[in-house]
Amino acid sequence: MQIQNAGTLGGNLCNASPAADGVPALLSLEARVELRSESRTRVLPLSDFLLGPRRTALAAGEILSAVLIPDVSGQGGFLKLGARRYLVISIAMVAARIAVSEGRISAAALAVGACSPVACRLPDQEAALIGCPVAAAVSAIDAALILPVLAPIDDPRADAGYRQIAAVELLRRLVGDMTGAAR
Ligand SMILES: Cc1cc2nc3c(=O)[nH]c(=O)nc-3n(C[C@H](O)[C@H](O)[C@H](O)COP(=O)(O)OP(=O)(O)OC[C@H]3O[C@@H](n4cnc5c(N)ncnc54)[C@H](O)[C@@H]3O)c2cc1C
Repeated sequence: MQIQNAGTLGGNLCNASPAADGVPALLSLEARVELRSESRTRVLPLSDFLLGPRRTALAAGEILSAVLIPDVSGQGGFLKLGARRYLVISIAMVAARIAVSEGRISAAALAVGACSPVACRLPDQEAALIGCPVAAAVSAIDAALILPVLAPIDDPRADAGYRQIAAVELLRRLVGDMTGAAR
């Protein structure tokens, strides 16, 4: 019997699971979180809020009171691999935000989850995509630019090697879908 049928984005972030599905998409959107206590309000980039598995920068007495998403350019996408389609902890998931101008990628933000203690952006792969013609975007996805950033573990869902292959393949598929739409 299903024991939970609702969840919040705030809970997803404060839980700080490496497999939290909300995190890669929010990283690709440059999200920040607002933290509030009785005495103060502060804002942190999401990447500074998540410190490790089950660890956040929340101080005693603080709650996460808002997720702030700037007006960034581009189209967003998300792809998740699990042992089944829904209600499953991700083996790997990827998010992307891509903007296209005159047939070339003008902005790229890529993030991978469940393949490192905290979901992470891929700065070298992002840089390699910028300026790339959309038709060449999938072939510009390069494991050598992605895997050094990741640190996947073996667990009952998948071993580290499988997660590495999955992350690169998910990125190829997602970027292919998104740039195909842009074409
Ligand atoms: C059957 C099932 C399926 C699931 N599937 C997925 C899935 O597919 N993908 C996924 O990412 N997760 C999944 N989860 C995990 C979890 O339910 C989600 O991450 C959900 O978004 C958590 O939100 P919540 O509001 O239920 O948080 P809670 O579980 O109520 O809270 C999580 C933690 O964060 C704290 N917290 C919550 N909100 C705040 C806040 N605003 N400020 C400060 N602290 C706060 C709580 O005190 C608690 O310690 C699943 C869980 C179950 C039980």
